[in-house]
Amino acid sequence: MNVAVVTSAHDFRRACQEARVDGELALVPTMGSLHAGHESLIKAAAQWAPTVAVTIFVNPSQFGPGEDLASYPRERAGDLRKCEESGATFVFAPETPAEMYPPGFQTWVEPGPLARPLCGERRPGHFRGVCTIVAKLFALSRADAAFFGEKDYQQLLVIQRMALDLNFGIEVIGRPTVREADGLAISSRNSYLNREERQRATALWKALQAARRKFAEGERDPASLEEVARQSLEAEGVRIDYAEVRDPVDLERPSRADATSRLFLAAFVGKTRLIDNGELGAPR
Ligand code: AMP
Repeated sequence: MNVAVVTSAHDFRRACQEARVDGELALVPTMGSLHAGHESLIKAAAQWAPTVAVTIFVNPSQFGPGEDLASYPRERAGDLRKCEESGATFVFAPETPAEMYPPGFQTWVEPGPLARPLCGERRPGHFRGVCTIVAKLFALSRADAAFFGEKDYQQLLVIQRMALDLNFGIEVIGRPTVREADGLAISSRNSYLNREERQRATALWKALQAARRKFAEGERDPASLEEVARQSLEAEGVRIDYAEVRDPVDLERPSRADATSRLFLAAFVGKTRLIDNGELGAPR
């Protein structure tokens, strides 16, 4: 294993400082249990900059009470191998939450309206936790660019806004969702699914495709497009958390959908909550 691993914030800051002397630095923040989606971000980062720092930290502050913080998959050895194979230069993997939230920690980053609907409404405090940890990683690394997946599209927008609002001077770059052959968006949480649930989990992709078909037929009413998605999700036997058409820039609800409007989906397959989203006008 050649990829260097640092576990303290101090060493991470120093490694980034040294890397920036040689050129640009790209950052890929993750919660580990790495998969092809993360690998695509690391590869894109390696195209963008000579040095790529991947961070692996299951951030407690973005989990709500009763969510899956304790059971979230942790796969350190496999993660380091995937980082190396995808082109990471070094990895920051704090060993305890206290490395990022030491005793006395009390300062939080509160996002604005972009963090209110969708997952913001269903997971109170989630984006505050996300913004705070990402702000800390931005401050430690002073990276030139950071790569995030469109799989978590609302998160991408919230972080892009935060980077502007707090003058980080870091370019926040979004990358397309990587999917399994049957359309399921790859996620660390897919490991929770049993065989039967894994089959049903394609419901989100099917609902997105159903809404896209309806859009291609000429439907522009957001409520009607959402209804098509809801019916498709219900037919697959998953419990809907939300199915909403939103503007891709401000996440407001459009009065009329256009090709760039996005459908946002969250649904429970058994106990596992999955999310997905996509442009209505995208090719099917
Ligand atoms: P996570 O480890 O789930 O916090 O995700 C770390 C980063 O990987 C985030 O920017 C996610 O949006 C991104 N990501 C997760 N799943 C995918 C996927 N299937 N395709 C592309 N990016 C992804």
